[in-house]
Amino acid sequence: MADRFHIDFEIVPGPLVLRGPEAHHLHVSRVRVGDTIHLFHGDGREYPANVVEVTKRDVCLDVAAGETVDREASVRVVAACALPKGDRGQFLIEKLTELGVAEFVPILTTRTVVNPGESKLDKLRRYVIEASKQCGRNILMKVSEPRPWAEVLSDRHLPKVRLLAHVGETGRAVPGECAFAVGPEGGFTDAEVAAAQAAGWRTVGLGPRVLRVETAALVLASHVMT
Ligand code: SAH
Repeated sequence: MADRFHIDFEIVPGPLVLRGPEAHHLHVSRVRVGDTIHLFHGDGREYPANVVEVTKRDVCLDVAAGETVDREASVRVVAACALPKGDRGQFLIEKLTELGVAEFVPILTTRTVVNPGESKLDKLRRYVIEASKQCGRNILMKVSEPRPWAEVLSDRHLPKVRLLAHVGETGRAVPGECAFAVGPEGGFTDAEVAAAQAAGWRTVGLGPRVLRVETAALVLASHVMT
């Protein structure tokens, strides 16, 4: 998957001249005239492209017709999680992308400490692209705007099965399409858990140890997808 490059705009077969950051990535990857690379935009397709010319500034490509290459998970999973700080947030986004999660919703709860603004969200979306280049996904995991927990609870667009990871629960998640929620390091408050249960969310446990947010989210994601 090393020859995959993300293009920010819709890809149209035919000649394509890349400049700026996009050409920069190709320069850094040392593409040469005659190489075949693969472009993706996130529309589900992959576009083989021949490198026609490489100058200091530009890279000229001849882009072939796109082919749909499906490397998505077989079930739609939405992860609603409190975003951990710094590197652990990056790690979480990368791994959820690799696992094939469809959407990540940063949730704002009483004890949430990270409320990502526009520049942070841009960074998170860059991590999705980098992970997708590497793992071969042609549809990008959606990173939503942060949303208050009370709003997420009753969102009618989420998958019908809704799971809330809660320390001490014995009930287990069952594989299949779902939305799951993981709280911040300080946990959900009792009121937040009660409101979720009242709204039809099922509390599930992940064993007797207290896991970090990213561990809990990745364990749940892989569990519901198998
Ligand atoms: N001090 C907090 C721990 C929070 S850990 C508490 O006791 O609740 C952060 C989040 O990870 C939790 O809100 C929960 O959603 C999830 N989590 C961590 N360990 C878990 C476990 N063993 N079972 C279920 N969920 C867990």
